[in-house]
Parts: sequence; C-alpha cells; structure tokens
Amino acid sequence: MSNVRHALSRLSVRVSLIAAALAFCSALGTGLASSALSGSLSPSNAGEIVALAILCAGLGFGAGLALSLYLLRPLKRLHLAATRLATGDLITPIPVGGSRELRSLARVLENARHELDGITRWLTHEKAWAEYLVETISEGIVTLDAQGRITFMSASAAALIGCKGSDVSGKTLDELLAPAESDGKLSDLLPPPGQERTIPVLRRDSRTIALAVSGATLTPPVESAARTALFLRDVTSETAMQRLQGYFLANISHELQTPLASLRTSAELLVTDHADLDVSEQHKLHTSIYRGILRLESLIDNLLASASVQAGRFKVKPLPIDLGEPLEEALLFMEPLLNAAALTLDVDLAADLPLVCADSRRLSQVFVNLLSNAVKYAPPGSQIALVAKTDTVSGKEIVRVSVMDSGPGIPPEAREIIFSRFGRLDSPGARKDHGAGLGLYIARTIIESHGGSIAVEPRPGGGSCFTFTLPVAAQKVL
Ligand code: ADP
Repeated sequence: MSNVRHALSRLSVRVSLIAAALAFCSALGTGLASSALSGSLSPSNAGEIVALAILCAGLGFGAGLALSLYLLRPLKRLHLAATRLATGDLITPIPVGGSRELRSLARVLENARHELDGITRWLTHEKAWAEYLVETISEGIVTLDAQGRITFMSASAAALIGCKGSDVSGKTLDELLAPAESDGKLSDLLPPPGQERTIPVLRRDSRTIALAVSGATLTPPVESAARTALFLRDVTSETAMQRLQGYFLANISHELQTPLASLRTSAELLVTDHADLDVSEQHKLHTSIYRGILRLESLIDNLLASASVQAGRFKVKPLPIDLGEPLEEALLFMEPLLNAAALTLDVDLAADLPLVCADSRRLSQVFVNLLSNAVKYAPPGSQIALVAKTDTVSGKEIVRVSVMDSGPGIPPEAREIIFSRFGRLDSPGARKDHGAGLGLYIARTIIESHGGSIAVEPRPGGGSCFTFTLPVAAQKVL
C-alpha cells in the first residue's frame, strides 16, 4: 500500500515539475522574444526576464501540484478501498468518483465486493450449520488421517470415548480405547468402509461400553489430512436389552408352558377318567386347574402392565381407599397358592390405619406380586408376615406396608437390580423357580406412580422384607 502511495506522490511531483518547466520555458521565451522584438534586450533586462521566468516556474509548479492532487485523489480513494477489500473488509462500500474510467473501475470493484460479501455470509452460515449438526447429532464423528491419527473428533464422540476433544488431535484410537473382549488393538477390529460392527470397548476410566462403529473412506474434494471417517454410537443399553429380551423370551415361554401343561393334564384326567375319580380326586384336579389359571392371570397382568409402561400409556387412578380392600382381593387370589405350599400368612393392619390414596386394582397387583414371590422363596411350612402401619416422613403422614418371608434373602448388590425390567437373580441359591423378571418392576412402577417408594432389606433373623409406602388420602400428592 505504501508503495502505491509513494508512486502517486512521485507522480504528483513529476507532473508539478513538468508544469514548472513549461511555465519557466514559456515565460523565458515570451520575455526574451518580446524584448528582442522591441530592441530593448540588454543584460539587466535579461536578468529581470530570468527572475520572472523563475517566478512563473514556481507558480507553474504550485498549479501542477494542485491539479495533480485534485486529479489523483479519486485514484487514491479507490486504492484505499481496494486495500480494505484485500484485507477482508467486505462491509465498507467502494466509493465511486473521478474520471469515467475510474468510476467504471470503482463500480466493477463494488460489484465484486457485493458478490464476495454475499458468498462469505452464505459460507459462514453453512459452516455454522454444518458445525452445529456435527456437534448436536448423538452419533460421534471421528476422522483419521492415512496413519490412523485423529484429525477431528466431535463433542459427542469425545463424550462417548470419555476424553476431551481438544486433547486427542494427533493421537490414535488405540491410545484412547481398547477392545474389552480381546487382547488385540481396536484399530484391527474396525469395520471396512460402509459396514457397521458392535465392539465392546474399555475406556480409560475403566468403563466398558458397547460401541457401534461404522466407517467411511473419505475422498476429500480439496487436499485434506482426513482419510477415514468413523461414526460411533453407544449401544450399551440396547445390547443389554437385547440380551435381556432373549433371556425374557426363554423364561416367558417356560412361564406359559408350565401352567398350561399342568392345566392340560388336569383337564384331560377330568374329561377321560371322570367316572373313575372320586370327589376328593376331582377336587384336587379342580384346585390344580384353578392355581394354573391364577398363575397365568398374574403373569398376563404383569405382561400387560409392562407393555403399557413401555408404550408410555401406564396410568393409575388413585382414589381414597381402605388398604384392606385391595388386600382382600389379593388374598382371594393367593389363598390356593399359600395352601399348596403349606404356608401361613399373618396379616397385621394397624387399627388406626387412615385411608390411602391408591388405585385399588393396581395395589392388589402389588400385593399379589410381593406375596407370590414370598410363596416362591419361603421354605414350605414357614410363615409370611404382612404388616401395615402409619409413619411420618418429612412432616407428612404415610402408610408403610411390609411383606416378610424367611426365604434366602436378597444379596446387597442385587437389591436394586431385582426392581429393573427382566431383573432376575441367577444365583442358584436364590432361584427357586422360573419367572419373567417383571413382578418387582411392575410393583415399583405402580408404587412410584402413586408417589410412594419400594425397597427390600434383610428380614431380622433371615429372609427378605419388602416395604412400600403410600400417601394417605388427606395428603394426596398426585
Ligand atoms: P420373577 O417373576 O422372576 O420372580 P420378580 O421381579 O418378581 O420376577 O423378582 C425378581 C427377582 O428377585 C427374582 O428372580 C428373585 O431372584 C428375586 N426375589 C424376588 N422376591 C424374592 C424373595 N421374596 N426372596 C428371594 N428372592 C426374591
């Protein structure tokens, strides 16, 4: 820029010098010629003529300088504007002025500025949008160069891998993650372009996650260091859920087949050998059919409730009720099962028990689920206890109900898992019977939908004590 400014200054000086020389020459020539013509040319006269010519030269220089400055000003302004453009100022308009050629040049520059400004704004907007997309999609994106070094990692990828996106540039994936189920390197397990593979990986914070990785080979439109793009998804819960669902299907078919088989056998005997059976044998078969139906009914109730929770349609309709109402309903259901296992149930409801705010049918399902488990796990001939009393939590009155058995109890590390969907214990000691792993999950869903809570603790003397709470009717929370 200063070169151009100097060139323009030099041009102004040159124009002024030429104007001064022209003024000097014309004043000298005119003075000498007019003195010669009038015959008065003498040395003193000549001196005066030279002095006059020098004066004219000075005036010519000044006039030349003023003229050149005037003529060159639009060119200087144009030059300044072009310099601003070159340094990225696309906002300030190009001034249009000066000669026709300069005005035409300024208009061309102004159009170019306008176009560039539009393109830059569009590119900035598109870049921001692309960055926003990359950062907000839940899939993590990682790009690698030809040597497998990370050139880019989106925020979601960094969160999945468990590191900071800014710390990983230049590192390899093998430095951040290791395969959880083999000794090799993660880079050897990556899928070929266009395919997806689920790889259990061990993060640096010792957490194991199931990572669904799909790969793509990049052919960048411009020279770029990135050669491979990897798309990462955390499928830990999906994988666990698939495993659980497989387990659930195996269990559920057993759960359905067992009572159906016993129903079929009992019904077959009643139909084919009816005449040979005495009353007590017939009663035994009828009771067995009844128990089978109860078992199926309870399983179907839990399956339907679980399906409606998954579909987001599970609702309870709490009303002020006497706790005895759903309990009686549940006991009608439980009686044949308790008798079959030679178990006794000791019910102790506090005399001053207030009304609770609950959905009677759903609360009856909670009682059935807890009592069925107690029947399953309590040793034959033992006693199951059901106690209900009032309590105060954070200044609020609640009803606390406990179901206790003398079974194997629940190990501390499993006291949360058993309340999860399909959550069952595999330990042979605790597992007395098959089940769908839904009973406690549904019990917790129902109790929490009422604003209460449910948990298990060891029963003093051995066994389990499942306790749930419910708000009393006057202090309805929902
Ligand atoms: P399931 O239908 O499989 O019994 P639940 O959700 O009712 O499903 O129970 C989950 C698991 O909790 C059971 O598989 C069992 O291992 C354990 N469990 C539940 N109740 C008891 C109990 N009273 N005593 C011992 N273990 C229990």
